[in-house]
Amino acid sequence: MFLKRLDIIGFKSFADRVSIEFVPGVTAVVGPNGSGKSNITDAIRWVLGEQSAKSLRGAKMEDIIFAGSDSRKPLNIAEVTLTLDNEDQFLPLDYQEVSVTRRVYRSGESEFFINQQPCRLKDIIDLFMDSGLGKEAFSIIGQGRIEEILSSKPEERRTIFEEAAGVLKYKIRKKKAEQK
Ligand code: ATP
Ligand code: MG
Repeated sequence: MFLKRLDIIGFKSFADRVSIEFVPGVTAVVGPNGSGKSNITDAIRWVLGEQSAKSLRGAKMEDIIFAGSDSRKPLNIAEVTLTLDNEDQFLPLDYQEVSVTRRVYRSGESEFFINQQPCRLKDIIDLFMDSGLGKEAFSIIGQGRIEEILSSKPEERRTIFEEAAGVLKYKIRKKKAEQK
């Protein structure tokens, strides 16, 4: 499994539709300060289910919608689609390519899709659980996260290893079953 493409419309500084192709060999995104590099990772974390506006560097979820500029009016909708290559069937879906889409309106309403089919946020979170790609997973390490991991309690640190080993999913299911 690998990231193939990221389509962004109306998310933060990306007013126009931007399609980023992660062709083989792409290993870094460079650009001047404030050009939108971090907004790309914010878009990836958001589409994977990030619910905290603060961790997306905003005060409220609405702040992720393009707020307008000197020459452009604000937009009322933000949409991000992340497309993954799933030829190796790493994700448990019978598709060669898997896309997840998240859309938010200024009214606060949200929509989620897996391969263009409407779904719940929970379905997206479940799909990526133990894949290493979830919003809290080890493939996205934010600034300050290393420090946080090193200084965390052993039990908290274990969660990262459990996700990497692919057992977190079963632990969560067991816990849920025990609560019933
Ligand atoms: P640095 O090199 O400093 O880390 P960067 O390339 O990571 O910079 P970002 O933090 O991704 O830059 O982008 C910041 C820009 O995004 C700012 O100019 C900010 O005004 C713009 N921005 C953030 N949210 C919105 C929004 N809702 N609408 C319009 N622009 C936004
Ligand atoms: Mg940055």
